[in-house]
Amino acid sequence: MLEARLDMKLLEMCSRCGACWPVCPSCMHIPGYDPREVIKDILGGNYEKWLTSQSIWQCLECHHCLEICYQHYGFENAMTAMRTVAAKRGHHPAQVKRGWEMFAKTGRLGEPAMPARKKLGLPEPAKSGGDEWKRLHAMLKDKRAAKG
Ligand code: SF4
Ligand code: SF4
Repeated sequence: MLEARLDMKLLEMCSRCGACWPVCPSCMHIPGYDPREVIKDILGGNYEKWLTSQSIWQCLECHHCLEICYQHYGFENAMTAMRTVAAKRGHHPAQVKRGWEMFAKTGRLGEPAMPARKKLGLPEPAKSGGDEWKRLHAMLKDKRAAKG
């Protein structure tokens, strides 16, 4: 499942490089966050322990690693693939589930803080597009159901 989501040849080169480690904000500031270790275990077929680790959720998806990467691959791909597999197995943090449920219901990941917006003189936020999202989501569900 994980292997199908990753290019193992690129990951293999990644395991010998490490050039993006010094530009990764999570690597610099979160003790224990080190995609190099995760990649080493993916390549060794020994990644199960990371699926229940909070480390894989500490990637900010800031794309710094993609920008610097000579093969335009990035630590990010490994961490995203790990999170996808972890979520499919129900190992995602509670706040991720809450965020998804709210998005599915309203088309937003959070409610705008209206008092703060008013204080800062910001205009009314645009409509979320939640109704369009619900229609699209229903269509996707129907399509999946039809495929069996
Ligand atoms: S996308 Fe993730 S792994 Fe890449 S630099 Fe940002 S925090 Fe680090
Ligand atoms: S993502 Fe790119 S820059 Fe970072 S370690 Fe892998 S190959 Fe090197």
